[in-house]
Amino acid sequence: MRVSRLMLVTLRDDPAEAEIVSHKLLLRAGYTRRISSGIYAYLPLLWRVLQKISQIVREEMNATGALEVLLPQLQPADLWERSGRWAGYTAGEGIMFHLTDRQGREQGLGPTHEEVITTLAADLIRSYRQLPVNLYQIQTKFRDEIRPRFGLMRGREFIMKDAYSFHADEASLRETYADMDGAYRRIFARCGLRTVAVEADSGAIGGSASQEFMVTAEAGEDLVLASADGRYAANQERAVSLASEALPLGPDPCQQLSTPGQTTIEALVAAHGFDPSQIVKVLLLAARFADGTVQPVLVSLRGDQQLNEVKLANALTAVLADHGALLEVAPIDGAFVERWSLTPGAIPFGYLGPDLADDTLDQKGKAPGVALTSAPQSPVAPPRLERHFLRLADLTALDLPRFVCGANQADSHRVGATWADLGPLPQTVDLRAAQPGDRCLHDPSQHLEATRGIEVGHIFQLGRKYSTALDATFTNEAGQEEPLWMGCYGIGVSRLAQAAVEQNHDANGICWPLAIAPYAVIIVIANLNEPLQVKLAERLYGELQSAGVEVMLDDRDERAGVKFKDADLIGIPFRVVVGRGAASGQIELVSRVEGERQDLAAEDLLTCLMQRIRP
Ligand code: ATP
Ligand code: MG
Repeated sequence: MRVSRLMLVTLRDDPAEAEIVSHKLLLRAGYTRRISSGIYAYLPLLWRVLQKISQIVREEMNATGALEVLLPQLQPADLWERSGRWAGYTAGEGIMFHLTDRQGREQGLGPTHEEVITTLAADLIRSYRQLPVNLYQIQTKFRDEIRPRFGLMRGREFIMKDAYSFHADEASLRETYADMDGAYRRIFARCGLRTVAVEADSGAIGGSASQEFMVTAEAGEDLVLASADGRYAANQERAVSLASEALPLGPDPCQQLSTPGQTTIEALVAAHGFDPSQIVKVLLLAARFADGTVQPVLVSLRGDQQLNEVKLANALTAVLADHGALLEVAPIDGAFVERWSLTPGAIPFGYLGPDLADDTLDQKGKAPGVALTSAPQSPVAPPRLERHFLRLADLTALDLPRFVCGANQADSHRVGATWADLGPLPQTVDLRAAQPGDRCLHDPSQHLEATRGIEVGHIFQLGRKYSTALDATFTNEAGQEEPLWMGCYGIGVSRLAQAAVEQNHDANGICWPLAIAPYAVIIVIANLNEPLQVKLAERLYGELQSAGVEVMLDDRDERAGVKFKDADLIGIPFRVVVGRGAASGQIELVSRVEGERQDLAAEDLLTCLMQRIRP
C-alpha cells in the first residue's frame, strides 16, 4: 500500500463533531468520515482493521464448530408480528428502521436476527439428531438509535457478529453458552483488548442468563459494579446489592407535619433533621403498551435510593404481559394531566404519598389526548388510559416499619406512617439502582466498586421464547415434538475497533495492537529527492511484501517530520525510516508503542521484523 494512493487526509486539530479520544483519532488519522448522524464510511485503513477483527472472530467461532451464514437484512413485518416484537421495535422508542415495499408490505431493516433464524430453524431442524447447531454471520445491522454518538461506538448502521444456537435441552444450551464464553475471551484477548465479563440485563431480546463483555475505558457508556475479590461483576442496569440499613424512626404514632415549600428529600432533611432513609418518596409514571393501554404507575422508593429504569421496565413488562410490548415509560407531569384532561388533584407532586387515591385519575369528560408523547404514526392501538394506579414498591421501602411520606395534600407530610395505615400493600419488586460503595450480597464485607466499560459482546441464553412464538419445534428422543432451546451471541465488530483505540493510544495517536493493525509496518522515505533513499525503500517494500509482511510505503512528497507524525497518528506498530544512512545501507526501526529506536543494516530488517511480528 502506497500512502500516496491512499487519499490520506490527516487532521492536525480535533474535529468538533467528536467528543471522545477514539472518535477524534479515527477521524484525524483518516480512518472514517461521517456521512450522516450515526452513519460512517469505513475508509481503506479502517476496513482492513474491521476485516482483521472479523477474521479473528471467524476463526474462533469456527473452532467451536459454529457455521457461517449470511441472512437477509430486509425482514418481513409478519415474522416480527409473530414473535410479538414488531410494535415494540417500530413504535415509541423502537429502534427498527422500517418501510413499506411496492406491494404495500411492511419490512424492517434487521437490528438483530432472532426472527429470521428461528423461522429457518423451524423449516430445517426436524429431529434431535441434528442438534445442537450454532450459526453465525458478520453483517451490517441497522438501529435507529435514540442517541447515536461517539462515532462507531453507537452508530445507526454498524457491523455485528451475531450467532444463534439451537438445542434439544437446556443442558446443551448451557454447554454452548460456556463455549461462547470461552471463544469470546479468546477473541478479545487476541484483539489485544482488556475486557471484563459481567452479569447483564437481557433487555428487549428476552431470555434468562446473559453476560456482557466490557472493554474497560473511562469513555464507556456502561457502569460496571464489581467486588474487589472479583467474584461479582454486573452492569449497573442489572446489579444487585445490599442497601445500607435505614435509620429507625421514633415510636410516635403517625402525625401530620406541616411542610410548606419542602417538596424534595433534601428540603425535608434540612428542615426536620430526618435521614433520607426514613422517607418514602413516590414517583408518578405512565407506561404505554402496544395494545394502547396507558397504565399510570406509582413507584415507592426509600428516600436515599434511586430508581433503576431497566429494572422498572422489566417489572412492568412482566406484571402487565397481557398488554403486549412496553413502548415507553414517561413521568406523569402537568402536560400529561392536561393531555388526558384529568381533574386537577390540587396535590403538588412533592406531597404525594404511596396511598394516592385512584380517583386522582378521574377524567373531566373531554376526549382523551392522542399519545403520551408524539410518537409518529405508530402501528399500535390508540392510547387508552387505565383509571387506577399500578402500585409498585422497592423492597427497601416496603421493609421500613415506620416512615415519613407525603400526605396527599399540599404543604403536608406524615411522620411515622406504616404500610398498614396506607391500605393495600403495593407489589414488591427490586427497583433500586445498586450504587458504588454498596455492600455485596455474596459477602457483605465487600463493597461494590465502579468502573466504566464499553460493551463489545453479549451472550444470552434465550430459552424457548422465540421457538415457541415461531413454532420452531423438533422431535425429541421419545418421539415427541417440543420447542427448540436457543442461545444468541453478539459482538459489535465496528464498536470493538473503536474501543481498541480508546484503550490503545497516546498523545501522538493510535497504538494499534499488532493483531488488528491495518498494516504491521510503515516504511517512510525521509527525502523523496534522494534517489538512494527511494531505491532502498522500494527494495525493502518489495522484500517485505514478498515475505508476506503487511507493509505500507510512505512515498508522499512531504517533509520527513510530517510523515513521522502521520505514521504515529495512524498507529502502525513498526516504522522503518530510510534516510541519510541509505548510502551505507543503514536504516532505522522504531516501535510505535515503546518508541524504541534501533539502527540496523537493511539486510537484517526482514529477520528482525519477523522476530517481532511472528515470535
Ligand atoms: P447497547 O446496550 O450498547 O445498546 P445492545 O445491548 O442493544 O447494546 P446487543 O443487541 O446485545 O446490543 O448487540 C450485540 C453487540 O452489538 C453489542 O454488544 C455491541 O457491541 C454492539 N452494538 C449494539 N448496538 C450498537 C450500535 N448502535 N453501534 C455499534 N455497535 C453496537
Ligand atoms: Mg446488550
